[in-house]
Amino acid sequence: MRRNPIYTIGYRQWEPEQLYAKVRELGALLVDCRWSRRTRRAAWSGRAFEEALGKGYLHIREWGNPRYKTGRLEVSDFATGANRLEHVLNLSGETRRRVVLMCACEDLAKCHRLVVAARLLDRWGQYGLRHLFPPHGRGQGELFREPEGEGT
Ligand SMILES: [Zn+2]
Repeated sequence: MRRNPIYTIGYRQWEPEQLYAKVRELGALLVDCRWSRRTRRAAWSGRAFEEALGKGYLHIREWGNPRYKTGRLEVSDFATGANRLEHVLNLSGETRRRVVLMCACEDLAKCHRLVVAARLLDRWGQYGLRHLFPPHGRGQGELFREPEGEGT
């Protein structure tokens, strides 16, 4: 049974190198939940993440929000995306690997990745959800407390 919390991150408040370092430190798989990986800032393009993190990066377009411009929080196709992620984790033999759900948005409450995270927690029977804040920010947020001795 999976016991690790699910992490989320909004890259807009980060410097690229700091974000890569955080993901490496966690030994996590960075899951890009954006509908589009093209950005004005080249460092945040899908290609830049691929180059920096290699197999530590995975884009799941099915978890993107096709209506992000309207402000509605929607996920294109949660189940297909979840199957893809589980397939990758199983292939690598690391089903307990930490997963970081990434989008641009700083505010998790206003981001569709919260929908993804909630459904993934439900699917995997986990209870920990942590939002990663940048260094010099407000510290690492813990949204739901985990029972003693569990998690990470
Ligand atoms: Zn977002």
